[in-house]
Amino acid sequence: MSLNAEPLRKILELECKKGYLDSAVIGGLDRFLRNWAGQAVESITTTQLRNRFNKLRLVNSNYASLTKEQRKEWVNSVLDFLAEAERGEGEKGEARLTPIASRPSPRPRANRPVVNQSIDSPITVVRGISSSLATRFNKLGVKTIRDLLYFFPHRHLDYSQRKPISQLTEGNEETIVANVWQAQEIRLGGRRSTEAIVGDETGNVRVVWFNNPYLAKNLATNTRLVISGRVSLFKGRHVFESPEWERVEDKELIHAGRLVPLYPLTQGLRSRQVRKLMKEVVDQWAWQTADFLPSGLRERQKLLELPQAISQAHFPEDEDLKTRARVRLAFDELFLLQLGVLGKKRDWQEGQPSSPISTKTPVLEAFLQSLPFELTQAQHRVLKELLSDLEKPQPMSRLLQGEVGSGKTVVATAALLMAAANDYQGAFMAPTEILAEQHFSTICQLLSRVGQLEEKEDYLHSYSGLLSRPLTVALLIGDITQSRKRELQQRILDGDIGIVIGTHALIQKEVEFHRLGLAVVDEQHRFGVTQRSALRQKGSSPHVLVMTATPIPRTLALTLYGDLDLSVIDQLPPGRQVIKTKWLKPEQRASAYAFIKRQVAEGRQAFIICPLIEESEAIQARAAIAEYERLSQEVFPELRIGLLHGRMSAAEKDRVMRHFRSGELDILVATPVVEVGIDIPNATVMLVESADRFGLSQLHQFRGRVGRGQEQSYCMLLAQNPSEVGRARLDIIENVQDGFQLAEEDLKLRGPGEFFGTRQSGLPDLRMAKLSDVALLELARSEAIRLFEKDKNLEKPEHKPLAKELARVWPEAGEWS
Ligand code: ADP
Ligand code: MG
Repeated sequence: MSLNAEPLRKILELECKKGYLDSAVIGGLDRFLRNWAGQAVESITTTQLRNRFNKLRLVNSNYASLTKEQRKEWVNSVLDFLAEAERGEGEKGEARLTPIASRPSPRPRANRPVVNQSIDSPITVVRGISSSLATRFNKLGVKTIRDLLYFFPHRHLDYSQRKPISQLTEGNEETIVANVWQAQEIRLGGRRSTEAIVGDETGNVRVVWFNNPYLAKNLATNTRLVISGRVSLFKGRHVFESPEWERVEDKELIHAGRLVPLYPLTQGLRSRQVRKLMKEVVDQWAWQTADFLPSGLRERQKLLELPQAISQAHFPEDEDLKTRARVRLAFDELFLLQLGVLGKKRDWQEGQPSSPISTKTPVLEAFLQSLPFELTQAQHRVLKELLSDLEKPQPMSRLLQGEVGSGKTVVATAALLMAAANDYQGAFMAPTEILAEQHFSTICQLLSRVGQLEEKEDYLHSYSGLLSRPLTVALLIGDITQSRKRELQQRILDGDIGIVIGTHALIQKEVEFHRLGLAVVDEQHRFGVTQRSALRQKGSSPHVLVMTATPIPRTLALTLYGDLDLSVIDQLPPGRQVIKTKWLKPEQRASAYAFIKRQVAEGRQAFIICPLIEESEAIQARAAIAEYERLSQEVFPELRIGLLHGRMSAAEKDRVMRHFRSGELDILVATPVVEVGIDIPNATVMLVESADRFGLSQLHQFRGRVGRGQEQSYCMLLAQNPSEVGRARLDIIENVQDGFQLAEEDLKLRGPGEFFGTRQSGLPDLRMAKLSDVALLELARSEAIRLFEKDKNLEKPEHKPLAKELARVWPEAGEWS
């Protein structure tokens, strides 16, 4: 090998440009020269040249001690020598840095048909994946090659734009292509690390890799590297700290100098290793995925082909292709999802005989007339939507959304009444016993205004004068005695009970209906899709109305409840007040208590919500008991305080709620069970402990517990030490009253899983699609509808691959909705 003068020449030229200040190399020229010369001398082959080289005394140059003039002279002499040496040796150093070629991904290797291997083979068939590595991948849910192909990076670093070293900006993620001048092992904070000085034609920069001393040996002087990472400042100079790096060779870059994928990692998976592996897998296998989208659809929507989309999602050539890859893959997810939910709706509506319920106008009119208020326009509109659904030969399948207090219960009651008027039974299902009881009493109260109470037994009221026969309303909850329960169940089976209200106890096997015509599910987010489907299987083909006070962003509604039609009560009854909401600092606790005392003195009541404790209901109950005791002994000894938690029996809860409602209690200390639906018009204060730990929708629900009467109401939020997200949430809830807006914010802050409190069964695993992809979702839905119109059961040959994919993605589709 002959002398490679290039690195030294560049440095000296730079030194010259910078005015001989010994600033061309970090650490000074002397150190660099010592290093460089030591290596360079080995490569000089002629004696003459070696003599001249030695005369330059590069190994102990003492450049630092020279005057500026001396430096200039010396530098020029070395440069002269180098020029001569290069000519003489016939060795031409690389004249300039070439830009990083943005080489397109090579078309993956031709399919090498391997017997017994498919994209559904376990990942261990991939060369380089040992069984221990496979175990680590399995932890991430990656078992087959297909899983690997769909194991997408969570983001990409944009290292595609090369910068000259002189233009690096501190704090930015930058990419350079540079030559290694020198690399050595050093100690940094006691850790064995690598330090390198690298340079291009515009300057040089220090690079350190912490905890990685071995790298030094791999970075011989003049190795060409792409380095990508954040530029920091150390002692006034730029430095890359543990950047991504890659040798510039004649192949596609993976780790630097491009859009670099960052994969979700688990213990024992290193990012460079995963990236290298993924590149090989994608190159070899992506082309073996079958594109299941009908080509007409793909062309119409200008979607990338599947193999290209997969490959570009991992190693995109540029931003545009990265985006298009995401769009294609997100479309797939949403499209398959829509096919799944719409397929369920189709099966559900076609497979079953219907129970048309006609509107009995006189009964309806009498009921509406009897109400102490006028329905709002929104209530009227929604009621009309429901009634027209009920008359149809297919069962209704509708989601009714409406803010807390928007009056959904009245509307549902009218619909239940119509079912009864058509000699069908109606079921009203609530998420908790307290709420079931409350619905029971609300509905009885409403009916007592139009009918005469004929018969009153435990958990059963019967009204006459309304229908041609008495209308019997019953409450069925888990907690009533076995014998009474059996009795009620028998009467439901006999068709003697017209409207039954209950919890999920209603969908248990032993409850059989005589002729169930309409099932109303309130506050549906506590019900999984499986419960919904169990309810539908009751009786011959009930119409189903799902109600929620949690405003569900449209995307989620179409995703999770795509099988349902949507109605919204988007208007509150007139005169509803704005609930004054305040986030209090911990030191304002005493004044919060004082405020409660004043409100109670004025005859009002207050809720105090205990902190959310995730461990278990038992622990939560214990915490609530402790808080209850503290408050009643130390803070409000003179007030009447009640306690409500999930571990109490329904009878106990009911007793406490009744006491609170009737005004025998001033304050109700409760676990978050009180969240949904409870209606106490005289309560004006809601104090939420650890408010930062609740989601926005949940806080909004709490807040909705007050402000139900005439008096100005207040919501006070206490937070000990809120995180950044917690503070963001508290800020929002203080200022936003609109439930839909809060729901959107909630979704943004917490994601869909947490949005519903618990992860829903049936919530699809969306990797590429985001719930903010409204337009794409609408598109997927309209394409799914269009496809079903053409080929309802996906039987045409061109739809076979799609049918297969659908069966693969949603094998459990049979249990859906
Ligand atoms: P939601 O279930 O939607 O939270 P509810 O049906 O419990 O709301 O209604 C909340 C309160 O508002 C109830 O006391 C109900 O009687 C009352 N209400 C319902 N509709 C109206 C209306 N149109 N005008 C005035 N008050 C109404
Ligand atoms: Mg309600």
